[in-house]
Amino acid sequence: MDPAKERTGTRPPNLMRRHADHSGERGLTPASLRRANERTLIGLLTRFRRASRAELAKASGMSQPTAGKIIHRLLALGALREVNGNHRPGSPGGNGGREGGALRPGRPGRQIEFDPRTPRFLGVQLDVTETALAGLPFNPHCDEEWPVRFPTRPGLEEWIESLAARSVVPHPQRLWGVMLSTPGIVDEAAGRVVFSPNLHWTERTDLRGAIEGVWKLPVVVVQEIRALALGHLMHEPDHRDFLLVDFGEGLGGAIVIQGRLFSNPLPLHGELGHTPIPGNPRRCGCGGVGCLETLLSRRSLLDGYAASGAPEPHDWDGFRRHVAAAGIPPWFDGALAAAGSVIAGALNTLGLRRVVVTGLLNDMPSAVLGRLFGAIRQGGIWARFGEIEFCAASRRRASGLVAAGIDLVAEPHFGVGRKPAG
Ligand SMILES: [Zn+2]
Repeated sequence: MDPAKERTGTRPPNLMRRHADHSGERGLTPASLRRANERTLIGLLTRFRRASRAELAKASGMSQPTAGKIIHRLLALGALREVNGNHRPGSPGGNGGREGGALRPGRPGRQIEFDPRTPRFLGVQLDVTETALAGLPFNPHCDEEWPVRFPTRPGLEEWIESLAARSVVPHPQRLWGVMLSTPGIVDEAAGRVVFSPNLHWTERTDLRGAIEGVWKLPVVVVQEIRALALGHLMHEPDHRDFLLVDFGEGLGGAIVIQGRLFSNPLPLHGELGHTPIPGNPRRCGCGGVGCLETLLSRRSLLDGYAASGAPEPHDWDGFRRHVAAAGIPPWFDGALAAAGSVIAGALNTLGLRRVVVTGLLNDMPSAVLGRLFGAIRQGGIWARFGEIEFCAASRRRASGLVAAGIDLVAEPHFGVGRKPAG
């Protein structure tokens, strides 16, 4: 199968298909082979963060001239940069500087890394109440900084209008693409939202086309929780298999198996939040009744807190302080138990043993995650004879969007006639 076919559309990339990419595949065209090699090197650099040419060639199994050619192209594009490097923990050989020097006489200790500063992508984070923008470098370990924020106005035209009015980088026309993260059930290949319980106006609108109209740049649409999972993968490349669960305005999941985002025929993944919980009468934005999300979204938790008769203020800080002082109230405990049971069901079904939790609950006293993890362990069959691993992690949405953007750069004609924006 031609790997180029596999990548048709704008599916988020898979950076972590390392070593196998350039080996064992026959009948590749030179362009597809180069792309596969390019992604292999970018995957290695994601892991090492900084390495010499020789180290990259060795770790990839490519010849030094082949690896050198690819690195040269990425340097010329402005995706990578050369620095004077000393050995750091995590770099592969421990003598990177010397090896680099051997390859490039007169330039000892030259190392390759992602360009950490120059904005290459416009990151757009469409959220229920707020939209955030950032100029993102070609660096999957970039900081999670979103300097421009504005309220999300309902309606495509209104939203596009407020988006177009914002200035994020000095020369947006020089960027390589726009990376949009959006909630809901998202058909990433078509660049459309199919269904969005918390943001109905985005449904069936041509989000990608509308954004392309503003900046005349390629637009990649990524479902918001999948962007978080990609971002986590960039920072924890050893976490090859996990279920990521995010608690926020909604409750969503994303699945990574063997270092790749799980993709299936339907544009529907990890929708844990819309599992009905018996005895829960609340109506959900999806049209259902009793969804888990109606117990554990930010809004639902604050409503639950206010309804419990607890002292004011009924805001997030007040809620957190109350839990710290008085422990987990029974209504919250029940919601955590329900979430644990739903998550355990997903682990049992998918055959996963690692849960990565991002978002709101990480901000609560540790007893809250302790309760959730206990409930997952109780329902997870793996815990009967093995160990379920839990990881409370930061949201790395910017990293995830950069990871999605890296695939654009691997396109065959990318960079032809293009001047780096630096
Ligand atoms: Zn629902």
